[in-house]
Amino acid sequence: MYLRRTLFNLAKKYNVLYFNCTQQQSLKSYYVDKTHIPSLIIIRAPRYSSDSPLKCWNCNFIYKSDLFCTKCKVLQEPPENLTYFDVMGISKSYDVTFTEIQKKYKALQKQLHPDKFSNKSEKEKQLSETLSSLVNEAYSTLINPLKRGLYMLKLNGVTISEETDNVHAEFLMEIMEKNEEIEDAGSDEEKIKKLMQENETVLNTLTMKIANAFKQNDIKKAEVLLIQMKYYDSINGKLKKLKYDLGIVE
Ligand SMILES: [Zn+2]
Repeated sequence: MYLRRTLFNLAKKYNVLYFNCTQQQSLKSYYVDKTHIPSLIIIRAPRYSSDSPLKCWNCNFIYKSDLFCTKCKVLQEPPENLTYFDVMGISKSYDVTFTEIQKKYKALQKQLHPDKFSNKSEKEKQLSETLSSLVNEAYSTLINPLKRGLYMLKLNGVTISEETDNVHAEFLMEIMEKNEEIEDAGSDEEKIKKLMQENETVLNTLTMKIANAFKQNDIKKAEVLLIQMKYYDSINGKLKKLKYDLGIVE
């Protein structure tokens, strides 16, 4: 009991997340399920039902692209079932590359640049702003391996709750030891650099494992791995801050 309480407090101290075990959705497909669309996306564009064909508000053409009318190229209201992957025009996979996301983001930024809309109607100006911020949200979520994974869980109706007493004691001990190592390193540049490298290796390995779990539709496994990633991400943040405060450059 004492150990459990200690570990619980430790988890709280390091502000880590814990997943809700009541969600038994382990074998669900990770593609968007209409019943689990995050409310954020629904609020954005309540006008369409996801089954109705997308009609351009400007020329009535039934368009195929998610953001632009295929015929007159005018910007459209984002449909309600649009995911961040749709916004960026990339396939719904955890395994996307940094380069791919970056490339799509730059292209969209160019298309949505305010200069392109200075002579357009108020509606188009408004849409360009709405879509621009949606693109920024999508980009910052998908580019980050932790945020991308949590978002994919969310698309499966799984959220990781803030409170935890359900992380393996062994794992928490490991994290506690890591934190002690950081404290012991003090301002030793070499030690901090080494700890950072080690931590990055762990994060990279986790990224690969998470990609595999999603590929196999093993949502439960992805959850467990993402919780671990949350801890290591927090260590990464701590080391980065330390590096910054001590003015360490690579
Ligand atoms: Zn049109």
